[in-house]
Amino acid sequence: MTRTLVVGTGIAGLITALAHPRPEQVMVLTKAEPAASNTYAAQGGIAAVTEPPAPGDSVAAHVSDTLTAGAGHCDPRAVQALCADGADRIADLIAAGVPFDRTAGGGLSRGLEAAHSVARILHAGGDATGAGIADALLATAARAGIEVRGHTLVTELIADGARVRGVRALTSGGGQVEIEADAVVLATGGAGQLYPFTSNPDVATGDGVALAARAGAALADLEFYQFHPTTLALPGNFLVSEAVRGEGAVLRDAHGVRFMMGVHPDAELAPRDVVARAVADRMRSTGAPVRLDAIALGAARLAERFPSIDAAVRAAGLDWASEPVPITPAAHYWMGGVSTDLAGRTSIPGLYAVGEVARTGVHGANRLASNSLLEGAVFGHRAALATSSDSGAWAPELDLAADQNDPAITASSPAGARPRCTRASMQNLMWDAVGLGRDGDELAGAEQTFAGWADGDQAGSEAGDDLGAHEDANLLLLARLTARAARLRTTSMGAHHRIDHTRVLERTP
Ligand SMILES: Cc1cc2nc3c(=O)[nH]c(=O)nc-3n(C[C@H](O)[C@H](O)[C@H](O)COP(=O)(O)OP(=O)(O)OC[C@H]3O[C@@H](n4cnc5c(N)ncnc54)[C@H](O)[C@@H]3O)c2cc1C
Repeated sequence: MTRTLVVGTGIAGLITALAHPRPEQVMVLTKAEPAASNTYAAQGGIAAVTEPPAPGDSVAAHVSDTLTAGAGHCDPRAVQALCADGADRIADLIAAGVPFDRTAGGGLSRGLEAAHSVARILHAGGDATGAGIADALLATAARAGIEVRGHTLVTELIADGARVRGVRALTSGGGQVEIEADAVVLATGGAGQLYPFTSNPDVATGDGVALAARAGAALADLEFYQFHPTTLALPGNFLVSEAVRGEGAVLRDAHGVRFMMGVHPDAELAPRDVVARAVADRMRSTGAPVRLDAIALGAARLAERFPSIDAAVRAAGLDWASEPVPITPAAHYWMGGVSTDLAGRTSIPGLYAVGEVARTGVHGANRLASNSLLEGAVFGHRAALATSSDSGAWAPELDLAADQNDPAITASSPAGARPRCTRASMQNLMWDAVGLGRDGDELAGAEQTFAGWADGDQAGSEAGDDLGAHEDANLLLLARLTARAARLRTTSMGAHHRIDHTRVLERTP
């Protein structure tokens, strides 16, 4: 029998499988090709303090940077676990064959990214870190004989009394399967497809959060969605990593003015939410895209340090070594998700969540760049040990007062229901009302609209073997829950920006 069932083949799911003391008892499911994941798309790198640390670096410094970026909303215990476990998990990745870039002297090459006080970002293939990690972990899982089933979309959690006992899933051939397990680990990644502009691939439809919500699991921090400031302002929103700004690229408005210096002391390397909002504001005030100026880096450096981005930019017909390129903010990373303890345990016995689907508290209101790959490795490893040793009482330390799940909403958004809206209309409303700047009345209106789309005559009809309809139902449920969470937090914090609150502050003498 499968004792531990892992859902997802990003870094979090694969590390959970590989770190399990009995890999022969693990099965991994994933809804598309195993390489389709946010992990594969990751560019900039993975943050960690490795031995010997860079001059001036320490676990305490990494903790401090993470807490600062999180805007006072992190769980300090989770941050300490994330940063302290970092070196060991990097050692695991190296042992699994991840080809981290090296200096001429053979040491690990380290880059600087926004809001890090020290250059501590390890990278592979220049800007192809995620692909380097995913390829190495998939190959290691194959060598270890771990069963990885692709094209299997998990549509429901099976519960027996209060405990999760397995999953229902749809295979690409249209068949439904039920798989029993002692432990189910959700490692399903983020939900960038909630928005029309996103750096995330198509698989990022938030399924794990929706599955957990319907099963009654506690959720938290749903209102905190990070928007990346620099994606190409072209279809597909290819991400231009922060590391490009770390190497010296700057932002200019339509008049060529370098505006970030007047916004924040760290200018282009200010926290992501600050840069993203400043870019959006400048685009609104000038009526034209903002441009990323990387000319000073030169063609050779751009091609050598950022080969994937260089290829994508040039494929779009742009020569970024000689002209600034148009960029736009896009939905990038969900800080909120399924509430877990420091070993991935959720509020439901037998159910674990790791990686972007989870809300561990490490990111607070705003994720520090390159901490999410590390989160997947650290908490995937911790969950693997927990699934193999947990028995009897289930008592994770969770702040249930912060639970944002709402049974009334989940009941009216059943699994597999066909929403009465198109995905595009849901995405556009999310962008307009639950995007970079939020207003209480608009949030309330959006919530009502989402509720109407979920409750219509067709909402109860089964989606059957239509994979897209399952994803749409999940997205609509998450849109409602996110709009509600954003409405209820009436002040601004980190990535959650209430423009009505800012207006009140501006009027206050
Ligand atoms: C363009 C881009 C660049 C990034 N750059 C960086 C970076 O440089 N550094 C950094 O730290 N972070 C970066 N991130 C964020 C980081 O990549 C992710 O947060 C992280 O990889 C998430 O890992 P994960 O294992 O939790 O999820 P993912 O890697 O997204 O994997 C989720 C898996 O679950 C599967 N799945 C989903 N739903 C189901 C279902 N219902 N049934 C079965 N399978 C399912 C998916 O197919 C996928 O295999 C970047 C993200 C993007 C999009």
